[in-house]
Amino acid sequence: MRVVSWEETLTEQEKRRAREQLEQLLERQARLGHSDVVTYYPPEAIAQRDLFALAGTHVDGTQWAVGDCDHRFPLQSISKVFTYALALEDNGREATLTRVGVEPSGDPFNALEFDETNRRPHNPMVNAGALVAADILGGADVDEKVARLLERMRIYAGNPELEVDQELLDAMLADADRNLGISYYMRSLGMLVGEVEDILRVYLSACSVHVTAAELSEMGATLANGGENPRTGERAMARTYVRDVIGVMFTCGMYDAAGQWANDVGIPAKSGVSGGIMAAIPNQVGLSVFSPGLDQHGNSVRGINVFRELSDRFGLHIFADPAETQLGRLGGRVWPEPEPEPEPGALDPEPRDDLPDDGVVPVAIEGAATV
Ligand code: GLN
Repeated sequence: MRVVSWEETLTEQEKRRAREQLEQLLERQARLGHSDVVTYYPPEAIAQRDLFALAGTHVDGTQWAVGDCDHRFPLQSISKVFTYALALEDNGREATLTRVGVEPSGDPFNALEFDETNRRPHNPMVNAGALVAADILGGADVDEKVARLLERMRIYAGNPELEVDQELLDAMLADADRNLGISYYMRSLGMLVGEVEDILRVYLSACSVHVTAAELSEMGATLANGGENPRTGERAMARTYVRDVIGVMFTCGMYDAAGQWANDVGIPAKSGVSGGIMAAIPNQVGLSVFSPGLDQHGNSVRGINVFRELSDRFGLHIFADPAETQLGRLGGRVWPEPEPEPEPGALDPEPRDDLPDDGVVPVAIEGAATV
């Protein structure tokens, strides 16, 4: 795979400065402890939870990556973006919308909650919605659906060798009570049409595709670039549906922390329980972070903090004053003078202890996440 390196465009001094600052950013956020990873991960993955990588691919094809950027990890829920994109293309906007909505649910990703009025899941970025997207994907059987999706994912990532990790897929299939429950319930209400086992296999196969942080940023860049991979020039999806996909990432991509994210970070993004976050800033850049420790929403703790810092520092918020935006600098061309180090902090505000305990059990905290 040819990687166009941002380093080639820089002077020695600029290179050193940019790399140093990216590494300092990772180091600063690494000081923040991590919570656990999801339970269905094998011990090796649990042992790797301190891995940390950050990468960017700009729409001019320039790419940079720091940290553990050669490590491969599963897309998990980030795959929902690509499943939805292909479902839209296969079925059209109107037919897709009758089956899955575009409203943030405010509920955890694996909630048994639906838009009762319209008899459809709230949105395609939570499990129920992604299962519907898998149901309506074109393809004669499971294998064909997975093959079509994989083919697209390879174009987004610019890597023709992306594969489904069979071992992870088997582990998730064996630990799928929650997703089976959601699926059977939806089928009983007519929200799912195909065989539950098949739909689940398509959805979880997509979750099990492994990528590096650099590839994930390239997937984001392909979306940011109107559906065409900016490095290879290959088209991964129809231009007309890019707005639907990026729009739903912006409103629903971070599960029940989506509103806070839109407020604080302000860029379309999607997270997965592997600890990856992919962001797409239209016409600018795709960004990715990988760090497996999760918060109670199932989002990467350090990942969120890195994005918050990048957003503040480079004015990435899509509604920020354009005068504050310094995206060129993020590309490594000119990094601003180092600023005082912001304190790492979580996206959620400090919990209030003056309120009565409502007995709600968080879904993905302290290693107790269930599928
Ligand atoms: N394998 C996970 C599931 O279906 C993916 C969830 C996620 O990344 N939030 O539950």
